[in-house]
Parts: sequence; C-alpha cells; structure tokens
Amino acid sequence: GQQGQDDLLAGLNPQQLEAVTYRGPALLIVAGAGSGKTSVLTRRIASLLRSREAWPSQILAITFTNKAAGEMRERVVDLVGDAARGMWISTFHSACVRILRREADQFGFTKSFTIYDSGDSRALIKRLVKEHEADAYGLTPAATQSRISKLKNELADAESFARQANMSDPAERKFVEIFADYQRQLRKANAFDFDDLIGQTVFLFRAFPKVADTYRRRFRHILVDEYQDTNHAQYSLIHELTRPVSSDAPDPYAANGMMIFEPETTPELEGASLTVVGDSDQSIYAFRGADIRNISEFERDFPGARVVLLEQNYRSTQNILSAANAVIGNNFDRKDKKLWSDRGAGDKIVGFTGYSQHDEAQFVADEVEALRRTGMPYSEMAVFYRTNSQSRALEEIFIRSAVPYKIMGGTKFYERAEIKDAMAYLIAVANPADEMSVRRILNKPRRGIGDVTETAIARFAEDHGISFREALSVPGQLGVGPKIQAGIGHLDAVLKEATEILLPSSGEVPPSTSVAEGLTLLIAKSGYLDALRASRDPQDEARVENLDELVAVTRDFARNNPDGTIVDFLTEVALVADADDLDDESGSVSMMTMHTAKGLEYDAVFVTGVEEDLIPHRISAGEPGGPQEERRLFYVGITRARKRLHLSLAMTRAQFGEVTVAMPSRFLQEIPGDLVDWRQSPGDVNSRGGTQSRALNARRGGGSGGFGSGGDRFGVKPLAPRDALKPLSTSMDKFPNKVTGKVRDNGDLELTAGDRIRHSDFGEGRVDAVTGEGAKRIAHVRFETAGLKKLLIKIAPIEKL
Ligand code: ATP
Ligand code: MG
Repeated sequence: GQQGQDDLLAGLNPQQLEAVTYRGPALLIVAGAGSGKTSVLTRRIASLLRSREAWPSQILAITFTNKAAGEMRERVVDLVGDAARGMWISTFHSACVRILRREADQFGFTKSFTIYDSGDSRALIKRLVKEHEADAYGLTPAATQSRISKLKNELADAESFARQANMSDPAERKFVEIFADYQRQLRKANAFDFDDLIGQTVFLFRAFPKVADTYRRRFRHILVDEYQDTNHAQYSLIHELTRPVSSDAPDPYAANGMMIFEPETTPELEGASLTVVGDSDQSIYAFRGADIRNISEFERDFPGARVVLLEQNYRSTQNILSAANAVIGNNFDRKDKKLWSDRGAGDKIVGFTGYSQHDEAQFVADEVEALRRTGMPYSEMAVFYRTNSQSRALEEIFIRSAVPYKIMGGTKFYERAEIKDAMAYLIAVANPADEMSVRRILNKPRRGIGDVTETAIARFAEDHGISFREALSVPGQLGVGPKIQAGIGHLDAVLKEATEILLPSSGEVPPSTSVAEGLTLLIAKSGYLDALRASRDPQDEARVENLDELVAVTRDFARNNPDGTIVDFLTEVALVADADDLDDESGSVSMMTMHTAKGLEYDAVFVTGVEEDLIPHRISAGEPGGPQEERRLFYVGITRARKRLHLSLAMTRAQFGEVTVAMPSRFLQEIPGDLVDWRQSPGDVNSRGGTQSRALNARRGGGSGGFGSGGDRFGVKPLAPRDALKPLSTSMDKFPNKVTGKVRDNGDLELTAGDRIRHSDFGEGRVDAVTGEGAKRIAHVRFETAGLKKLLIKIAPIEKL
C-alpha cells in the first residue's frame, strides 16, 4: 500500500517539492550551488520507492564520485529502509563496469577484464610512441594520451577519426597508427581504459540492441547529478538507456531474485523517465570533454521536458553567497540566477596574504586550531588548492602543528610504485592476458631480467602464438641463461600457486578472504617484501608499511563483500576515483583540489593560493573559455562553505626550485570589498605585529599608499586585490611575475649576521640571522624604527652598508 510521504516532503520549498513529485518522461532541475539539487534527487528516489512506483532494481542514479554515491545510497536507505540497497547508485564508470562485467563476452572480452587507469594508459602509450618512433613527429606520450582520451569522449575511434583527419600530414598518420595500435593492445590485454568503460558500453548497446533492451527494461528511472559535467559519451549512454524498448526480447530479470517487492504497475515499454540536475556555473570539466550544451539543449533533446529552477540556497551565509554571486556574475554567456539565503549575513570572509606559502600554510593551521577551540570539529573544515603540488607546503606545516588532516583524491595511495607492483601481481593472476602487468613484475624484485630477456620472451610468445604470460612457463625454451631461467621459473611457480588460491582450477568460488591470502602469498613468495625489508633505504620501510596497508584493505574488502572475488576487488580498486578516500576518519581536516570539492560542503573552507597563474591557472590563459572555466572552479570552491570562508595567498611561492612573485588573483578583485576582513594584506607582510590594519584602512579609505605601501621592497608595487584587475593586461607586462624577470634582483648579495643594511622603506637595520638557501635566502633584520622583519634577500630593496 501507499506509505506516507509527509516526512519526505517536509521542509521543501515549492520548487523543490515539484522537483520531487513531478512525474513525466523528462525533468531538468537547474540551480545554483547549495540550492538542494542533490538533496532533491535523493528525495525523489525515496519518493519513487515509497510510493512503489518503482522498485529498487529499476532505479539507476548517477553521481560524480563513488563517495557521493555511497552518501546518496545511505541517505535513501535512511528514508526507505534496507530494501533500497538493490539500487544502482554509482558513477558512470562504476555503472558501466557492472554492465561490462556481465556482457563483455558478447564482444570478445572476458568478464575478468582489467581496467587501465590513466597511469596504466600512459605507460602503454609511452611504449607505443617509442615503438612507432613517433617522437620524431613531435608526438609526446602526454599529448597523445589526452588526444586519444578526448576523441574517445566524443565516441570517435581510430578508423572514424582517420576518415576525417588530414592523412597527408605524416604526424597525423602517426597519431592514427598509435591510436589504432593502442586500441589493439588494450583488446589483446583484455583491458578497458577509463574512457572505454563508457564508450564501449555505448558501442555494446548500439551493436547489440537486445542487450541494450534488457537494461532499458530494467532501469525505469534514470537520475543524473552534476549533469553539467557529462561529456558526449556519457550523454550518449543516457540516451541509449532512455530509448523505448524496441525488440520483443523477454525480460531476463523478470523472474529471478532481483525483485525486492512486486511493483504495482507493470513495466512499460516506453523509454525510462529521466531526471537530470545541474548548474552550468559549476561546469569545470570541459578539459575532459564535458559539454555544457548537454544541459542547455536538454529541452530540445527531450521534448516536453519539465524544467524546475531552484533559487534558495540552504548552505551558505549571505556574505559567502554574495561573494560567490559577484564572482560568477563576471562570466558572460550565462543566465543570471538570483540565489539567496536566509541564513543571515554571517561572518565576514577572511582574507590573508602570507609572505611565502609556508606563511600562508601557518595561517591556515593557526586558524584551523582557533576554530577547533570554538568547538568546530576538524571534519567540518576543508582546505582547497588549485593543483595537487600545492598540498606539500600545507602538509608540512600541518604535520609540524599536529593538525590531523587527510588528502582527498590525488589517488595517492594507489599511485605508489609498490602498490602498483602488488596490484600488478594480482592482475597477472586474475587476467594473465594483461601483458603490461606481467611485464611490470618481471624484474620486481630483481631477477636479473632486463630488456633483452623481456624482448626474448615477447618474441617467443609471438612466434609460438602464445601469450607473454604463458611464455614464462617454459623458461628453458627462451634461450636465456640458467640464472635467468631460474628467476622466470620461480615467478611462474609463484603466480601459479596464487592462482590456485584466487581462481582454483577446481572452479570452486573461493572465499572472499582469498584475496588477502593470495596477495600475502604473492608479495612474500616472490621475494618482493624481503627485498624491501633488506634495503637500508628509509623509503623502503614506508613501502613495507604501505603494503601492510594494502593487505589491510583486502581484509576490509573480505569483511564488506562476503561473496567478493579477486575480480570484484580489482574493480573496486580501479574505480577509486579522485574524490574517494578509503579511510574516512572523521577527525581530520580534508585537503583537496577545487575540482575534487564539487558537490561537497563544510562549515569552514580555506581556499588557498588565490593568485594569478594559480587560479586562474596559467594553462587556462591560452584555452578558449579557459579563464571563464577557472572562474567557475573558483565559484565551486567558495560555495562549499557553510559558515566561514578564508581566502589566502602568498606573495612569493617557491615552485620547481624557483621563487615566484605572486600577484593576487583577479577573482579577489571581483568580491565586494566590504565582504572581506583582511587579516593581513600584501602591504602588511613585512610588518607583522606592527600596523596590521594599515593597508586595510588605506584601502577602505581609498588612500594612496594602499596595499603597496610596504611592497615597494619588491621594486614593484604589488597590486592590491581591489586593484588587481583594472590595469591587468598592462600591469602584467610591466611587472613580470618571475623573480628572474625584470623585477629587482640583488643577485647573490652577501649578507651575514651583524651586517648593517638600508631598506628603502624601513631605513637602517642590523641583520640578526640569515636562513634559507639560494633564491630563498631570508634575512632577519632588526630595524631601528620598524622592528624585526624577514626579507627575501634576492628581491628586497636593500643595500649593504
Ligand atoms: P551543489 O551545487 O554544491 O552540488 P546542491 O544544489 O546539490 O549543491 P545540496 O547539497 O543538495 O545542494 O544542498 C545544500 C545544503 O542545503 C545541504 O546541506 C542540504 O541538506 C540543505 N538543504 C537543501 N534543501 C533544504 C531545505 N529545503 N531545507 C533545509 N535545508 C536544505
Ligand atoms: Mg549537489
């Protein structure tokens, strides 16, 4: 019978209510950040289940990360109970893996296929670029990889691309050759790369309509979050799934145990109902082929679609929201949204300019501790940056200050060499056709197997029509020396022993604990662990710990998936996407890139490195639409904050062994000044503890000195955030932001403790100490009137007396 929906609908505003209760073939919900898009999607699912319009197995919901999927699932289960666990709530990638695991044998793969992450693809492409001698044509592995990826996101394969490419250009021909060979190698390895997971599923549906129909019958309600970031392949997948059922194939799921309870309606044959939610202001994946038009043309693609707009933001205080609205308002080509909040004005945004990135990091750590003392848990705080490499300075200070933190995304753990090695051992067992993995472990640990032997194995395999892995079983025939033969024989034996545990020849399904058992055996008997333990390199100690951690992961897996197999485990690991973190301890500050932050929310947010060349990032400058996309990214960052927002930057940033003078980001200029409380502005940097608010006051009063008054030490007048944009184009020419450029450069000015100097601003002083090295040498100077200052020797306007 019909169960009450009151609690589901409680507290929704009228637009949200409509978004939850509207029934029809297509529904588009567009709205700005924090307006409840994801919440509405969740409640809509619960409402469909509660009313028995759908049963769990008929629902397919797509989220952007596995973490978001897990949260949505838990939320729905909270609302309607455990039966809801049968839903497919997952990322595009996970959904496609599930489909391919069932159907891959329809088109020449086996169900135990391997998934190549971008590092794996890169390694393969690197090899192919070399083999095809393509570097002579200017093809680099990175550029080739990203081009192939873009084409796949457009559903183009090598052949279709070749038809419209300029094949009289030899470089273009090389590219096509590599693209085609790459695809051949993947197939030979029984592997899909990340883009293939989606593209090949679309291909499968198009080539095998009956297969597609089984999924069309099954999924009656398809819901997609973050629709603005879907690319063409993902869009096509959704299109395929929402088509009417065309053939009379029987429904293979009708009579098996997949039904949790009987539906009250009989499944219809018309297309599934589609709900998508998105915000074109948060489209930040154009570089991966995301196409904003998927949202703007939804009504054309799905005639009769209902469109619901949400305007109230429930996440952030008004100050934060006003800043966000002001920033995004600078993008042209967008529909203006009137987002408002009734959470009150709230605290002002805090601005801070550090002298260096360490100074900035110290500010963040201090502020985190201050918030913690007011009772805010660490888990409610997050630190964002534009690029992963910015995390290191923050991590150093956090470790020193004993602030607990975790890095989200960056897939750190699984990118470590020792973890990749251990995984390659498992893959060599689960999918022996995956030559890359077998090659990877060939000489790990050292078995005296070099390039010559590797080539000999490959040639033998080719000559005899067997796989690379199979060739390892006949070391005596490879034409290599006895020692190497013994090494290969040993590896072969270890792999076989592990195979008996993980995939017994008896055909028996091994217990889920076999993954841990198999892994332990592989790293022990192969000698891999011993080699690390015998090493005196302290890094190898950490590697042993990481391997222990991986074994712990397999044990967790066994607990959580009592029926899990090695293939399930490898799938899970391969899909640990950017925003996912295995250990979800709540007591730590989260650190992540702004890309990873999408969809999340925290009480306090620190956006760091708010500088020109970081956000907007320098690589965006030359891209069409690049600066606008960067602005959306910044908008995503600041709209994650519920109560407290901190924007910080550093005046100098050491990167790639070079000290760079940073300019405040133009986006700071776009935030109304009265929303920001500058704790320390660029002008104050050399006068900590002194006239803290001097620059702030000067700025507010519009006084002359302004931000730059203390900044003349650079020989340039650093731009105030408020002034950063106006003369930007010209100012960038005038003030190149490389220390090595036209900016003042004192060269290797010799300074030691006791020296006396004169500073153009602070007058005469005595050097207390000199710290740091090279371009980063800092003089700690005690001035007669201005007190103690830290000066970057290379660029400070000082002379030795
Ligand atoms: P984003 O664009 O960042 O993904 P969103 O539109 O998906 O944001 P949600 O994350 O769903 O927004 O919601 C933002 C916050 O507002 C959440 O904490 C949610 O619980 C809360 N919220 C949404 N709707 C309401 C409501 N009607 N009453 C109270 N709180 C709400
Ligand atoms: Mg959301």
